[in-house]
Amino acid sequence: MSDTLALLGGSKVINFELNRYNSLGPEEVEAAKKVVESGNLSQFLGCWDPDFYGGPKVQEFEMNCREYFNVKHAITVNSWTSGLIAAIGAIGIEPGDEIIVSPWTMSASATAILHWNAIPVFADIEPNTYCIDPVSIEKNISPYTKAIMVVDIFGQSANMEEINRIAKKHNLKVINDTAQSPGSLYKGKYTGTLGDIGGYSLNYHKHIHTGEGGILVTNDDELAERMQLIRNHAEAVVKDKGVTNLTNMVGYNFRLGEIECAIGIEQLKKLDSKIKSRIHAAERLRNGLKGLSGLKLPEIRSGATHVYYIFPMEIDEKVTGVSKNRIYEALVAEGVSDISLQYANLHLLPMYQKKIAYGSKGFPWTSDICKREVDYSKGICPVAEGLNDSTYLGYEMCVREFPDEHVDLVIRAFQKVWNHLNLLK
Ligand SMILES: *Cc1c(COP(=O)(O)O)cnc(C)c1O
Repeated sequence: MSDTLALLGGSKVINFELNRYNSLGPEEVEAAKKVVESGNLSQFLGCWDPDFYGGPKVQEFEMNCREYFNVKHAITVNSWTSGLIAAIGAIGIEPGDEIIVSPWTMSASATAILHWNAIPVFADIEPNTYCIDPVSIEKNISPYTKAIMVVDIFGQSANMEEINRIAKKHNLKVINDTAQSPGSLYKGKYTGTLGDIGGYSLNYHKHIHTGEGGILVTNDDELAERMQLIRNHAEAVVKDKGVTNLTNMVGYNFRLGEIECAIGIEQLKKLDSKIKSRIHAAERLRNGLKGLSGLKLPEIRSGATHVYYIFPMEIDEKVTGVSKNRIYEALVAEGVSDISLQYANLHLLPMYQKKIAYGSKGFPWTSDICKREVDYSKGICPVAEGLNDSTYLGYEMCVREFPDEHVDLVIRAFQKVWNHLNLLK
């Protein structure tokens, strides 16, 4: 292999496509086949009936999730975005209420808030874990704040001890968007189970999946009932079910099917082993990249485990003397795929910058329900913004299987680029 950088005409370290991550196997095929053969692809009824809670596979998968995550209630939904919407409706949010959320997350963490005509308020993130910063949460609390949308980003928990303390002090609800961190632990408990409501995505690039889908978890009976209602045409059911609290009982169809739940049952059995191999690959990568100057490797919160949806790194351009964009180009040229220079800064999306969401006239921000001017300008989240602007380099481990020899190739590509940084200046 030529030692010349591929970017400068040499040969690539990785000259084939690394294996796609695939958690599916014959067990899922068999489980899905059985459901099809049964002829029962969904058994939900939108009226008050035993089938209001779905068919056998829905109920079995939910029971297994309760047991795995050690929670009182697990509720399947047809996507985690649906789950977030159900969660926010369930806590009784009023139009114009504010929910504090991280900008460093997938867009649905914040749009789920807007879906109830509530107002997302962006708090900055912690520099080393990229999770929402409790100090910034507290600074952003207003008389209108009702909840905190905590995102357990990239594979590990946010600082839930501190966040729960703040929530208690200010009487706020806590929702955990744990889409990227199923099976990770925080002080001995599963991430996502430490707030009022949490949950996980089952879309195809998460640790385990059902194509599309999500799981809500909570230990609160009333919130569970309200989420089950929102999942399944609440308005049509409340009267017969004897529900008197009509707040946000505007129903949706967020129901997950029998095939997905049958697949989910098999996927959940694999979660521990999938996490184990992901952690193994990440630790091997960490060892191999250790010592590359100016490259910061992911930090794990004390008392937490990390399950590496993304392996986040940072490049200190002052140390490397080369911009992260140039290093990125050199890595991509060596055949390192699935790295990215940016993650989200949601507040900078056109929707927030122009404050145009529902209709064209600025609803909800321009409406009477919005009680104050909320600031989305660049500069409000300096840590999150700084990452995208100059330091962040994420390795999307969720995309690939990582046998040791492939991790070693990735390491070799990084080492090769670092050995030639002077040529990239
Ligand atoms: C994937 C993801 C979602 C959305 O989940 P879907 O199941 O795709 O709707 C929400 N939040 C975060 C942080 C995610 O990574």
